[in-house]
Amino acid sequence: MTELDDAIDVPQGADRPDLAGLTPDELSSLVVELGGKPFQGKQLFRWIHKKGVTDFSAMTTLPKPLRAALAERTVVSTPEVVRRDTSSDGTTKFLLRLADGRQIESVFIPDTPSQTFCISTQVGCAMKCGFCLTGTMGLTRHLTAAEIAGQVRVLARELDFLDTPFNIVVMGMGEPLHNYDATMRALQLVGSEEGLHVSPRRVTLSTVGVLPGLQKLAEEPYMPNLAISLHATTEEQRDRLVPINRKYTLAQLMDACRRFPLKKRSRITFEYVMLAGVNDTIEDARRLVRLLNGLKAKVNLLPLNEAAGIPYRRPSDETVDAFAQVLANAHITVSVRKSRGRDIRAACGQLAVEKPAI
Ligand code: SAH
Repeated sequence: MTELDDAIDVPQGADRPDLAGLTPDELSSLVVELGGKPFQGKQLFRWIHKKGVTDFSAMTTLPKPLRAALAERTVVSTPEVVRRDTSSDGTTKFLLRLADGRQIESVFIPDTPSQTFCISTQVGCAMKCGFCLTGTMGLTRHLTAAEIAGQVRVLARELDFLDTPFNIVVMGMGEPLHNYDATMRALQLVGSEEGLHVSPRRVTLSTVGVLPGLQKLAEEPYMPNLAISLHATTEEQRDRLVPINRKYTLAQLMDACRRFPLKKRSRITFEYVMLAGVNDTIEDARRLVRLLNGLKAKVNLLPLNEAAGIPYRRPSDETVDAFAQVLANAHITVSVRKSRGRDIRAACGQLAVEKPAI
């Protein structure tokens, strides 16, 4: 069984606060402590998140003594771009290095039809889903809110999107609800009107169903769209493919989904990775229809992205189509995810980085 409490804590480094993880109000308090005025905290937030400037000496609207105090007592962490690979379909994968030398990946997926950033919430992942390459890494550590929001800031800067709208999918490495507080704080930072001001309607959080997190999410003021990585239609099948199911069962998960407060016109997306001969039969599709009965749902089929070390195969297009047809006949909106960036290993479940020597 997956243990949720064994994550290695985020290294705190020096005692200096990381400004990249603080809200405008928190920055204001800190600035006041350093002898500045509250509005300068908001200016500071704007420099970091809206303009992408992290060098205090370039923050020309702030008085020099305040800049000096900030430089002496605080840090602004920013993930550093180590590599940038662009796929033949335009998908771009960023390998980013964190302050402690650990590495993560973030992906830009163009024209889907919007522009989408796919971000990570952990170095590795503890969930160990049987078909996911990230799961084979295990969990190294949680990301901080600064590191999660920092990915958005870095991609926006690198791709020249500081003033252009984009979507965010929290579907990179890691299980966001296993790193709940940092993830929600990061979303609050990217949603802030002083910063990139990304509307929660443009954000989708994907989870395997860590139920305590799902219950808390239902009460968040900044509520992203919800995607559930379902992948199976019986407890036995899901126990095997998604080990966390042994702790939070399919029945409990579906119950939590039924109680989840959806915004007007919004629906829960159910992701279903298709594995040849494992969960891709017409009978599976019919069970899925029954499982979703009465729910405001749509289904996203993900034919497996194969990888060395993953003991499953991708079903044929005919099998995927037949499965989709059963759902469509039952009036469930269904899409088949076109795999993006497979040639650079940026597709779903393919994010995994070697542990760097540190
Ligand atoms: N941990 C969260 C966030 C990651 S989202 C979650 O699981 O929802 C990444 C999505 O890609 C998940 O739906 C995951 O199940 C899916 N995925 C993982 N490995 C895959 C693979 N090899 N092929 C296709 N999809 C995969």
